Amino acid sequence: MKPALIVNGAAGRMGKRIVALACENGQFEVVGTTDYTEHPDLGKDVGPLAGIEPIGVKLSADFPESAAVMIDFSLPQAADASIDYCAKNGVALVMGTTGLSDGQLAKLKDASGKIAIVQATNMSLGMNLLFATVGTVAKALGENYDIEIVEAHHRFKKDAPSGTALSLAEAVCEETGRDYPGSLTHGREGKEATRQPGTIGMHAIRGGDIVGEHSVIYSTLGETVTISHSAHTRDTFARGALRAAEWITGQEPGLYDMQDVLGLK
Ligand code: NAD
Repeated sequence: MKPALIVNGAAGRMGKRIVALACENGQFEVVGTTDYTEHPDLGKDVGPLAGIEPIGVKLSADFPESAAVMIDFSLPQAADASIDYCAKNGVALVMGTTGLSDGQLAKLKDASGKIAIVQATNMSLGMNLLFATVGTVAKALGENYDIEIVEAHHRFKKDAPSGTALSLAEAVCEETGRDYPGSLTHGREGKEATRQPGTIGMHAIRGGDIVGEHSVIYSTLGETVTISHSAHTRDTFARGALRAAEWITGQEPGLYDMQDVLGLK
């Protein structure tokens, strides 16, 4: 039997692609597609909303009674309800929503005592290779290399810097013994804006329909090393989320990330 899947945030840019690709790959039975209570498309078949044939599942503000797994790509204000529902009903959770508060991250950790959860700020395979590498590179180059992280996203993105940029910074801090987030400097301006040793500069560009670009720049006197990743389409993240949803069914309760899913640990 195919695992029953709920997509929360189903009317969003990511949610629509997840619905369309879940139907295309045929590995899941989509049983719930949910969005916020005032969404103008509530009650409509979600297939045409996602650009595919009708699938007989309506966009709803209510979660179904049961499911095997939920993929959540909504907004932080929706996350508490998703976590509570999944923990209460034994539904595994793939949490892709970024910008979660410390309280929500603690809630996820708590819920992972009862259910399996994959949480990742970026679900692409390539980016997860970067997560696994950027700290090692920083450590090998040493403290004489200044580190700056630059990210670019579409004009609609709410949070800045991106969750992915923060995860890259965190990976560097973990490996090099820097304080996270204490050593991050967000932007730079003014007449006394000289770079402080050991800091990580964070820069967020917003414009047009840029899907997602991240560069970690290591620069010293004489050379610069740059490790970059560009996502060309949101389907990269949607496919990663579906891969996580396949992997998570049957896992023991716990808090996992994409490196667990992709076997990179
Ligand atoms: P979006 O604004 O297009 O979609 C968000 C959807 O959530 C909308 O349909 C909105 O109506 C809905 N929503 C709002 N309140 C809700 C509620 N209370 N309950 C249910 N749904 C609610 O945004 P998007 O570009 O699709 O991104 C969604 C989230 O996914 C963001 O946090 C984004 O940063 C994140 N994201 C993560 C990854 C990753 O790989 N982890 C990749 C891309 C985007």
